[in-house]
Amino acid sequence: MKVGFVGWRGMVGSVLLDRMVQEEDFKNFEAKFFSTSEPGQLFNRKIKFVRDTILLDAFDVECLSECDVILTCQGSSYTSAIHPKLRKSGWNGFWIDAAKTLRMDDDSTLVLDPVNHLAIEMALNNGVKNFVGSNCTVSCLLMAIGALFKEGLIDWVSSSTYQAASGGGAGHILELLKQMGAIHQSVESDLKTLTNTILEIDKKVLDQQNKFSDDEISCFQVPLAGNLIPWIDHDMENGISLEEWKGHAEINKILGKNHLDKLNSIPVDFSCVRVGTMRCHSQSLIIKLNKDISLNEVEGLIQSANKWVNLVANTREETIHNLTPMSVAGTLTIGVGRLRKLSFGSDYLGAFTIGDQLLWGAAEPLRRALKYLI
Ligand code: NAP
Repeated sequence: MKVGFVGWRGMVGSVLLDRMVQEEDFKNFEAKFFSTSEPGQLFNRKIKFVRDTILLDAFDVECLSECDVILTCQGSSYTSAIHPKLRKSGWNGFWIDAAKTLRMDDDSTLVLDPVNHLAIEMALNNGVKNFVGSNCTVSCLLMAIGALFKEGLIDWVSSSTYQAASGGGAGHILELLKQMGAIHQSVESDLKTLTNTILEIDKKVLDQQNKFSDDEISCFQVPLAGNLIPWIDHDMENGISLEEWKGHAEINKILGKNHLDKLNSIPVDFSCVRVGTMRCHSQSLIIKLNKDISLNEVEGLIQSANKWVNLVANTREETIHNLTPMSVAGTLTIGVGRLRKLSFGSDYLGAFTIGDQLLWGAAEPLRRALKYLI
Protein backbone atom coordinates (compact mmCIF):
# COMPACT_ATOMS: atom_id res chain seq x y z
CA MET A 1 0.00 0.00 0.00
CA LYS A 2 1.34 3.43 -0.94
CA VAL A 3 0.54 6.30 1.42
CA GLY A 4 1.32 9.87 0.38
CA PHE A 5 1.87 12.50 3.08
CA VAL A 6 1.26 16.18 2.42
CA GLY A 7 1.77 18.88 5.07
CA TRP A 8 4.07 16.71 7.22
CA ARG A 9 6.33 19.74 7.97
CA GLY A 10 3.63 21.83 9.66
CA MET A 11 2.44 21.80 13.26
CA VAL A 12 -0.06 18.95 12.88
CA GLY A 13 2.07 17.05 10.36
CA SER A 14 5.17 17.11 12.61
CA VAL A 15 3.19 15.81 15.58
CA LEU A 16 1.65 13.14 13.34
CA LEU A 17 5.05 11.91 12.12
CA ASP A 18 6.36 11.76 15.70
CA ARG A 19 3.38 9.64 16.77
CA MET A 20 3.75 7.37 13.74
CA VAL A 21 7.44 6.87 14.50
CA GLN A 22 6.60 6.08 18.15
CA GLU A 23 4.03 3.48 17.09
CA GLU A 24 6.20 2.10 14.24
CA ASP A 25 3.34 2.70 11.83
CA PHE A 26 5.69 3.12 8.87
CA LYS A 27 6.44 -0.60 8.76
CA ASN A 28 2.92 -1.20 7.45
CA PHE A 29 3.10 0.63 4.10
CA GLU A 30 5.31 2.44 1.62
CA ALA A 31 5.43 6.16 2.48
CA LYS A 32 5.79 8.93 -0.08
CA PHE A 33 6.34 12.52 0.98
CA PHE A 34 5.00 15.51 -0.94
CA SER A 35 5.70 19.20 -0.57
CA THR A 36 3.95 22.33 -1.78
CA SER A 37 7.09 24.44 -1.31
CA GLU A 38 10.16 22.25 -1.85
CA PRO A 39 9.51 19.46 -4.38
CA GLY A 40 12.75 17.91 -5.58
CA GLN A 41 14.54 18.43 -2.23
CA LEU A 42 15.63 15.49 -0.09
CA PHE A 43 13.15 14.43 2.63
CA ASN A 44 15.19 15.58 5.62
CA ARG A 45 13.94 13.24 8.37
CA LYS A 46 15.45 9.87 9.17
CA ILE A 47 12.57 7.53 9.87
CA LYS A 48 12.86 3.80 10.48
CA PHE A 49 11.23 1.83 7.63
CA VAL A 50 11.27 4.91 5.35
CA ARG A 51 13.82 4.86 2.56
CA ASP A 52 15.73 8.02 1.64
CA THR A 53 13.35 9.83 -0.56
CA ILE A 54 12.98 12.94 -2.67
CA LEU A 55 10.04 15.24 -1.97
CA LEU A 56 7.36 14.94 -4.64
CA ASP A 57 5.28 17.80 -5.99
CA ALA A 58 2.08 18.11 -3.93
CA PHE A 59 0.36 19.80 -6.90
CA ASP A 60 1.16 16.98 -9.36
CA VAL A 61 -2.18 15.16 -9.66
CA GLU A 62 -0.72 12.29 -11.69
CA CYS A 63 1.96 11.66 -9.08
CA LEU A 64 -0.52 11.92 -6.19
CA SER A 65 -2.86 9.48 -7.88
CA GLU A 66 -0.25 6.72 -7.65
CA CYS A 67 -1.00 6.60 -3.91
CA ASP A 68 -3.67 4.35 -2.42
CA VAL A 69 -4.08 6.78 0.47
CA ILE A 70 -3.30 10.47 0.70
CA LEU A 71 -3.04 11.91 4.18
CA THR A 72 -2.89 15.69 4.23
CA CYS A 73 -2.26 18.16 7.05
CA GLN A 74 -1.53 20.96 4.58
CA GLY A 75 -4.66 23.03 5.16
CA SER A 76 -7.98 23.92 3.57
CA SER A 77 -6.68 25.90 0.57
CA TYR A 78 -4.67 22.88 -0.51
CA THR A 79 -7.63 20.51 -0.08
CA SER A 80 -9.93 22.87 -1.99
CA ALA A 81 -7.44 23.12 -4.84
CA ILE A 82 -6.38 19.48 -5.17
CA HIS A 83 -9.10 17.15 -3.89
CA PRO A 84 -11.67 17.96 -6.62
CA LYS A 85 -9.01 17.67 -9.35
CA LEU A 86 -7.88 14.28 -8.06
CA ARG A 87 -11.40 12.91 -7.84
CA LYS A 88 -12.19 14.32 -11.29
CA SER A 89 -9.15 12.54 -12.68
CA GLY A 90 -10.75 9.24 -11.60
CA TRP A 91 -8.61 8.64 -8.51
CA ASN A 92 -10.57 6.46 -6.11
CA GLY A 93 -8.14 6.19 -3.21
CA PHE A 94 -8.65 7.14 0.42
CA TRP A 95 -8.25 10.79 1.36
CA ILE A 96 -7.50 11.50 5.04
CA ASP A 97 -7.49 15.18 5.97
CA ALA A 98 -6.95 17.53 8.92
CA ALA A 99 -8.56 20.52 7.19
CA LYS A 100 -12.11 21.80 7.49
CA THR A 101 -12.97 21.79 3.76
CA LEU A 102 -14.65 18.38 3.42
CA ARG A 103 -15.84 17.87 7.00
CA MET A 104 -19.54 18.51 6.45
CA ASP A 105 -19.76 16.89 2.99
CA ASP A 106 -22.23 14.01 2.79
CA ASP A 107 -19.58 11.70 1.38
CA SER A 108 -17.07 12.27 4.17
CA THR A 109 -16.88 10.75 7.63
CA LEU A 110 -15.49 12.58 10.65
CA VAL A 111 -12.94 10.43 12.46
CA LEU A 112 -12.66 10.18 16.22
CA ASP A 113 -12.67 6.44 16.74
CA PRO A 114 -12.86 6.27 20.56
CA VAL A 115 -16.22 8.02 20.10
CA ASN A 116 -17.49 6.91 16.67
CA HIS A 117 -15.59 3.77 15.64
CA LEU A 118 -18.86 2.10 14.57
CA ALA A 119 -19.58 4.96 12.17
CA ILE A 120 -16.06 4.69 10.75
CA GLU A 121 -16.40 0.94 10.22
CA MET A 122 -19.81 1.40 8.63
CA ALA A 123 -18.43 4.11 6.35
CA LEU A 124 -15.62 1.81 5.24
CA ASN A 125 -18.10 -0.98 4.51
CA ASN A 126 -20.23 1.48 2.54
CA GLY A 127 -17.33 2.58 0.35
CA VAL A 128 -16.72 6.03 1.86
CA LYS A 129 -13.34 7.35 0.68
CA ASN A 130 -12.98 10.68 2.51
CA PHE A 131 -12.10 10.59 6.21
CA VAL A 132 -11.62 13.91 7.95
CA GLY A 133 -10.47 14.92 11.41
CA SER A 134 -12.94 17.19 13.16
CA ASN A 135 -12.21 20.61 14.62
CA CYS A 136 -9.71 20.43 17.48
CA THR A 137 -12.00 21.70 20.25
CA VAL A 138 -14.76 19.39 19.03
CA SER A 139 -12.49 16.32 19.26
CA CYS A 140 -11.10 17.31 22.65
CA LEU A 141 -14.59 17.99 24.02
CA LEU A 142 -15.95 14.65 22.84
CA MET A 143 -12.93 12.77 24.19
CA ALA A 144 -13.72 14.41 27.54
CA ILE A 145 -17.51 14.17 27.89
CA GLY A 146 -18.52 11.94 24.97
CA ALA A 147 -19.87 9.41 27.49
CA LEU A 148 -22.55 11.86 28.66
CA PHE A 149 -23.72 12.36 25.07
CA LYS A 150 -23.65 8.61 24.47
CA GLU A 151 -25.81 7.97 27.54
CA GLY A 152 -28.32 10.54 26.26
CA LEU A 153 -27.88 12.70 29.35
CA ILE A 154 -27.29 16.06 27.70
CA ASP A 155 -29.90 18.69 26.82
CA TRP A 156 -27.33 21.24 25.71
CA VAL A 157 -23.72 22.31 26.21
CA SER A 158 -22.09 25.71 26.30
CA SER A 159 -18.31 25.81 25.92
CA SER A 160 -16.04 28.82 26.44
CA THR A 161 -12.72 27.97 24.89
CA TYR A 162 -9.16 29.06 25.60
CA GLN A 163 -7.32 28.05 22.43
CA ALA A 164 -3.55 27.93 22.09
CA ALA A 165 -1.53 29.87 19.53
CA SER A 166 -0.36 26.64 17.86
CA GLY A 167 -3.98 26.06 16.82
CA GLY A 168 -3.26 28.51 14.02
CA GLY A 169 -0.17 26.65 12.79
CA ALA A 170 3.61 26.92 12.93
CA GLY A 171 3.75 30.57 11.82
CA HIS A 172 1.34 31.62 14.55
CA ILE A 173 3.33 30.14 17.38
CA LEU A 174 6.55 31.69 16.05
CA GLU A 175 4.76 35.05 15.93
CA LEU A 176 3.67 34.71 19.55
CA LEU A 177 7.20 33.85 20.67
CA LYS A 178 8.69 36.82 18.82
CA GLN A 179 6.14 39.14 20.42
CA MET A 180 6.93 37.74 23.87
CA GLY A 181 10.63 38.41 23.22
CA ALA A 182 10.01 41.99 22.04
CA ILE A 183 7.81 42.77 25.04
CA HIS A 184 10.39 41.38 27.43
CA GLN A 185 13.12 43.37 25.71
CA SER A 186 11.12 46.59 26.08
CA VAL A 187 11.25 46.32 29.88
CA GLU A 188 14.36 44.22 30.39
CA SER A 189 16.38 46.97 32.09
CA ASP A 190 13.41 47.90 34.32
CA LEU A 191 13.15 44.30 35.48
CA LYS A 192 16.85 44.34 36.43
CA THR A 193 16.94 47.68 38.24
CA LEU A 194 13.34 47.83 39.48
CA THR A 195 13.65 51.61 39.64
CA ASN A 196 10.48 52.27 37.64
CA THR A 197 7.11 51.74 39.28
CA ILE A 198 4.95 48.82 38.21
CA LEU A 199 2.59 51.20 36.42
CA GLU A 200 5.48 52.64 34.39
CA ILE A 201 6.53 49.11 33.40
CA ASP A 202 2.95 48.19 32.56
CA LYS A 203 2.67 51.30 30.35
CA LYS A 204 5.88 50.39 28.48
CA VAL A 205 4.46 46.93 27.76
CA LEU A 206 1.24 48.41 26.38
CA ASP A 207 3.27 50.87 24.27
CA GLN A 208 5.27 47.98 22.82
CA GLN A 209 2.10 45.98 22.09
CA ASN A 210 0.65 49.01 20.30
CA LYS A 211 3.71 49.57 18.16
CA PHE A 212 4.12 46.10 16.65
CA SER A 213 4.51 46.42 12.87
CA ASP A 214 2.15 44.71 10.40
CA ASP A 215 4.82 42.04 9.87
CA GLU A 216 4.99 41.32 13.57
CA ILE A 217 1.24 40.67 13.74
CA SER A 218 0.75 39.18 10.28
CA CYS A 219 -0.76 35.88 11.54
CA PHE A 220 -3.16 37.11 14.23
CA GLN A 221 -3.59 40.69 12.93
CA VAL A 222 -3.38 41.99 16.52
CA PRO A 223 -0.82 41.19 19.23
CA LEU A 224 -1.49 37.94 21.08
CA ALA A 225 1.32 38.18 23.65
CA GLY A 226 -0.13 39.68 26.82
CA ASN A 227 -3.50 39.81 25.10
CA LEU A 228 -6.35 37.52 24.01
CA ILE A 229 -8.53 37.45 20.91
CA PRO A 230 -12.21 36.52 21.27
CA TRP A 231 -12.66 35.62 17.60
CA ILE A 232 -11.26 32.58 15.72
CA ASP A 233 -11.64 31.90 12.00
CA HIS A 234 -14.03 33.68 9.61
CA ASP A 235 -16.93 35.96 10.44
CA MET A 236 -20.17 34.13 9.56
CA GLU A 237 -21.85 37.57 9.58
CA ASN A 238 -24.59 36.40 11.91
CA GLY A 239 -22.75 37.19 15.13
CA ILE A 240 -20.79 33.97 15.35
CA SER A 241 -17.38 32.90 14.14
CA LEU A 242 -16.81 29.90 11.90
CA GLU A 243 -14.92 28.22 14.75
CA GLU A 244 -18.05 28.58 16.92
CA TRP A 245 -20.31 27.27 14.14
CA LYS A 246 -18.18 24.12 13.85
CA GLY A 247 -18.96 23.21 17.49
CA HIS A 248 -22.64 22.47 16.95
CA ALA A 249 -22.30 21.21 13.37
CA GLU A 250 -19.40 18.81 13.83
CA ILE A 251 -20.34 17.45 17.26
CA ASN A 252 -23.77 16.53 15.94
CA LYS A 253 -22.30 14.97 12.81
CA ILE A 254 -19.99 12.78 14.91
CA LEU A 255 -22.95 11.80 17.08
CA GLY A 256 -24.80 10.73 13.92
CA LYS A 257 -27.26 13.64 14.05
CA ASN A 258 -28.17 16.25 11.46
CA HIS A 259 -27.07 19.61 12.87
CA LEU A 260 -29.82 21.40 10.92
CA ASP A 261 -32.55 19.28 12.48
CA LYS A 262 -33.63 21.44 15.42
CA LEU A 263 -35.67 18.65 17.00
CA ASN A 264 -33.08 15.91 16.98
CA SER A 265 -29.74 17.69 17.17
CA ILE A 266 -28.20 18.56 20.53
CA PRO A 267 -27.61 22.31 20.91
CA VAL A 268 -23.93 23.06 21.40
CA ASP A 269 -22.79 26.66 21.72
CA PHE A 270 -19.16 27.68 21.62
CA SER A 271 -17.52 31.01 22.49
CA CYS A 272 -14.05 30.67 21.02
CA VAL A 273 -11.11 32.67 22.31
CA ARG A 274 -7.45 32.60 21.27
CA VAL A 275 -5.07 32.92 24.20
CA GLY A 276 -1.27 33.14 24.33
CA THR A 277 -0.61 29.55 25.40
CA MET A 278 1.78 27.43 23.33
CA ARG A 279 -0.32 24.33 22.78
CA CYS A 280 -3.41 22.61 24.25
CA HIS A 281 -6.97 23.91 24.07
CA SER A 282 -8.94 24.37 27.29
CA GLN A 283 -12.71 24.59 27.59
CA SER A 284 -14.94 25.76 30.41
CA LEU A 285 -18.25 23.91 30.08
CA ILE A 286 -21.79 24.41 31.25
CA ILE A 287 -23.73 21.22 30.64
CA LYS A 288 -27.49 21.10 30.99
CA LEU A 289 -28.34 17.54 31.98
CA ASN A 290 -31.77 16.16 31.24
CA LYS A 291 -31.93 14.51 34.63
CA ASP A 292 -30.44 15.05 38.03
CA ILE A 293 -27.74 12.40 38.31
CA SER A 294 -25.11 12.40 41.02
CA LEU A 295 -21.61 13.74 40.55
CA ASN A 296 -20.32 10.24 41.36
CA GLU A 297 -22.25 8.80 38.44
CA VAL A 298 -21.06 11.57 36.13
CA GLU A 299 -17.45 10.95 37.15
CA GLY A 300 -17.83 7.19 36.67
CA LEU A 301 -19.21 7.63 33.14
CA ILE A 302 -16.53 10.12 32.11
CA GLN A 303 -13.71 8.07 33.59
CA SER A 304 -14.77 4.81 31.97
CA ALA A 305 -15.33 6.26 28.48
CA ASN A 306 -11.73 5.90 27.34
CA LYS A 307 -8.29 5.29 28.79
CA TRP A 308 -6.97 8.78 28.06
CA VAL A 309 -9.30 10.70 30.40
CA ASN A 310 -7.63 11.90 33.57
CA LEU A 311 -10.26 12.89 36.09
CA VAL A 312 -8.84 15.73 38.17
CA ALA A 313 -10.27 16.20 41.67
CA ASN A 314 -12.06 19.52 42.09
CA THR A 315 -9.57 20.99 44.54
CA ARG A 316 -7.23 23.93 44.15
CA GLU A 317 -4.07 21.84 44.46
CA GLU A 318 -5.09 19.17 41.95
CA THR A 319 -6.46 21.73 39.51
CA ILE A 320 -3.49 24.08 39.34
CA HIS A 321 -1.08 21.20 38.81
CA ASN A 322 -3.06 18.78 36.66
CA LEU A 323 -5.59 20.79 34.68
CA THR A 324 -3.36 23.18 32.77
CA PRO A 325 -1.92 23.29 29.24
CA MET A 326 1.51 22.50 30.68
CA SER A 327 0.25 19.38 32.40
CA VAL A 328 -1.03 17.71 29.23
CA ALA A 329 1.16 19.24 26.47
CA GLY A 330 2.69 16.57 24.26
CA THR A 331 0.57 13.80 25.77
CA LEU A 332 -2.66 12.06 24.82
CA THR A 333 -4.13 12.81 28.25
CA ILE A 334 -7.50 14.54 28.31
CA GLY A 335 -7.88 16.34 31.63
CA VAL A 336 -11.41 16.68 32.99
CA GLY A 337 -11.94 18.56 36.22
CA ARG A 338 -13.77 21.34 38.07
CA LEU A 339 -16.76 18.99 37.99
CA ARG A 340 -19.52 20.44 40.13
CA LYS A 341 -23.24 21.09 40.18
CA LEU A 342 -23.88 24.75 39.37
CA SER A 343 -26.01 27.16 41.35
CA PHE A 344 -28.58 27.30 38.50
CA GLY A 345 -29.94 23.90 39.60
CA SER A 346 -28.92 20.29 40.23
CA ASP A 347 -29.24 19.42 36.54
CA TYR A 348 -26.59 22.00 35.60
CA LEU A 349 -23.07 20.63 35.53
CA GLY A 350 -19.90 22.71 35.41
CA ALA A 351 -16.66 21.23 34.07
CA PHE A 352 -13.28 22.22 32.69
CA THR A 353 -11.44 20.14 30.15
CA ILE A 354 -8.08 20.33 28.49
CA GLY A 355 -6.35 18.37 25.76
CA ASP A 356 -3.41 18.72 23.40
CA GLN A 357 -5.21 19.93 20.29
CA LEU A 358 -2.32 18.77 18.12
CA LEU A 359 -2.74 15.18 19.34
CA TRP A 360 -6.37 14.21 20.02
CA GLY A 361 -7.45 17.46 18.40
CA ALA A 362 -5.71 16.76 15.09
CA ALA A 363 -2.96 14.20 14.46
CA GLU A 364 -4.07 11.20 16.52
CA PRO A 365 -7.52 10.62 14.96
CA LEU A 366 -5.89 10.79 11.50
CA ARG A 367 -3.15 8.34 12.47
CA ARG A 368 -5.75 5.93 13.80
CA ALA A 369 -7.96 6.40 10.71
CA LEU A 370 -5.01 5.37 8.56
CA LYS A 371 -4.57 2.25 10.70
CA TYR A 372 -8.26 1.42 10.23
CA LEU A 373 -7.89 1.66 6.45
CA ILE A 374 -4.79 -0.49 6.40
P1 NAP B 1 0.94 24.82 9.59
O1 NAP B 1 1.78 24.56 10.79
O2 NAP B 1 0.80 26.23 9.14
O3 NAP B 1 1.49 23.89 8.41
C1 NAP B 1 0.89 23.86 7.12
C2 NAP B 1 1.97 23.98 6.05
O4 NAP B 1 2.55 25.28 6.09
C3 NAP B 1 3.17 23.07 6.22
O5 NAP B 1 2.88 21.78 5.79
C4 NAP B 1 4.21 23.75 5.35
O6 NAP B 1 3.99 23.38 3.99
C5 NAP B 1 3.85 25.24 5.48
N1 NAP B 1 4.74 26.03 6.36
C6 NAP B 1 4.97 27.33 6.17
N2 NAP B 1 5.80 27.83 7.11
C7 NAP B 1 6.13 26.81 7.92
C8 NAP B 1 6.97 26.70 9.07
N3 NAP B 1 7.63 27.74 9.59
N4 NAP B 1 7.06 25.50 9.68
C9 NAP B 1 6.39 24.44 9.20
N5 NAP B 1 5.59 24.49 8.11
C10 NAP B 1 5.44 25.67 7.46
O7 NAP B 1 -0.56 24.31 9.81
P2 NAP B 1 -1.12 23.24 10.85
O8 NAP B 1 -1.41 23.90 12.14
O9 NAP B 1 -0.26 22.04 10.84
O10 NAP B 1 -2.57 22.94 10.22
C11 NAP B 1 -2.73 22.08 9.10
C12 NAP B 1 -4.21 21.79 8.94
O11 NAP B 1 -4.70 21.14 10.10
C13 NAP B 1 -5.09 23.06 8.78
O12 NAP B 1 -6.14 22.79 7.90
C14 NAP B 1 -5.64 23.27 10.17
O13 NAP B 1 -6.85 23.97 10.18
C15 NAP B 1 -5.82 21.84 10.62
N6 NAP B 1 -5.82 21.68 12.06
C16 NAP B 1 -4.85 22.30 12.80
C17 NAP B 1 -4.85 22.12 14.18
C18 NAP B 1 -3.82 22.81 15.05
O14 NAP B 1 -3.96 22.75 16.26
N7 NAP B 1 -2.81 23.46 14.48
C19 NAP B 1 -5.83 21.32 14.79
C20 NAP B 1 -6.79 20.68 13.99
C21 NAP B 1 -6.76 20.86 12.63
P3 NAP B 1 5.19 23.02 3.00
O15 NAP B 1 6.13 22.08 3.68
O16 NAP B 1 4.53 22.40 1.82
O17 NAP B 1 5.81 24.37 2.73
